[in-house]
Amino acid sequence: MAAAPSLQQAETPDTPYNQNLRQVSFEIQAECPTTRARAGLLHTAHGTIETPVFMPVGTQATVKGLTQRDLAEDLGVKILLANTYHLFLRPGAESIRGLGGLHRFMSWPNAILTDSGGYQVFSLSGLRKITDHGVVFQSHLDGSLHTFTPESTVDAQLAFGSDILMALDDCPEYPVSHEYARESLERTLRWARLAHEHYRRRLADNPAPHALFPIVQGSMFPDLRRRSAEALAALDTDGYAIGGLSVGEPRPLSLEMVEATEDILPRDRPRYAMGVGMPHELADYVARGIDMMDCVLPSRNARNGCLFTSQGRVVIKHARYKDDARPIDENCPCYTCAGYSRAYLRHLFLAGEILYAALATRHNLQRYLDIMREIRQAIVSGSFPDYLRTIRSASEDVE
Ligand SMILES: [Zn+2]
Repeated sequence: MAAAPSLQQAETPDTPYNQNLRQVSFEIQAECPTTRARAGLLHTAHGTIETPVFMPVGTQATVKGLTQRDLAEDLGVKILLANTYHLFLRPGAESIRGLGGLHRFMSWPNAILTDSGGYQVFSLSGLRKITDHGVVFQSHLDGSLHTFTPESTVDAQLAFGSDILMALDDCPEYPVSHEYARESLERTLRWARLAHEHYRRRLADNPAPHALFPIVQGSMFPDLRRRSAEALAALDTDGYAIGGLSVGEPRPLSLEMVEATEDILPRDRPRYAMGVGMPHELADYVARGIDMMDCVLPSRNARNGCLFTSQGRVVIKHARYKDDARPIDENCPCYTCAGYSRAYLRHLFLAGEILYAALATRHNLQRYLDIMREIRQAIVSGSFPDYLRTIRSASEDVE
């Protein structure tokens, strides 16, 4: 492992952007000598986050089934993700601003990242019309028409008071032609520049501790991914997101797309792979230089009866757990595993009890957070390549 200089030492002190506006900073503490993995610290106004980090998804300003105390105190979550599209439609950005911002509204003491809304507009809403200025879309709630522009989504996220904001992106489905992906990418780049300019103007008037990450797109074409990363790197932002993954493509392709831009994105800024992945895939993303990830899988799968353990998956409805007095995972330190049996959880699941979702989500999130802690520890101690080999051979048994 090699200690890297902190961002403060590495950056040029005389550019106005670095001097005045960089509010979220990233510090690399250790790097793996054989992969691109790194362990770092992401400093925000709502605390310092150890990376690589997994961010639980709180779509509607709540991680379904858990209290903020469960998340912050029991699970040790330092950053979670909330969803601009959903919160913009209900209760509305101005409403949240009036109630003191998202942190106060949802009583969350740690950092919040909000996505751009782009992915939901392109996947959830009904009618939509894309123009160079933004996207007009129909709410999935009541059919009302709304417009997202690069500027308006920055304003909404500033009203939320998010620590990390995302620039509006055009997120194509999979598969699309190279031609379509190229047009879509050029639009995303234009929007990223507009969002960035708007954000800098807003921040210049009212300095606040935020960061805006643009999103690398380019569908499954390495040349477009590289073009995207080069153009966005020129914006010199506080961090970079990699979007357009987990849209139905085979997993090796997602990893290849991350790999395509690793050497282009500035190494002293955090990289966030959006919407990935399965437990056994997390280390593979980290090995390709990813510092931040989020995914609905641990919470959604928990509610659907799929529990992740250090020994593979447990599908809790199976009859074999009917009289099983063991916890979900004997190696897990979570509240659920400390007190509840598989038999009881199966009973709650089959009875449709609310408590099942709370206990199961708690366990699955603990599993993800533990994996990230193991990965970080392996990077710091210099044993990440061994860790990666073990995970890869184990996942062949599991899948
Ligand atoms: Zn557990």
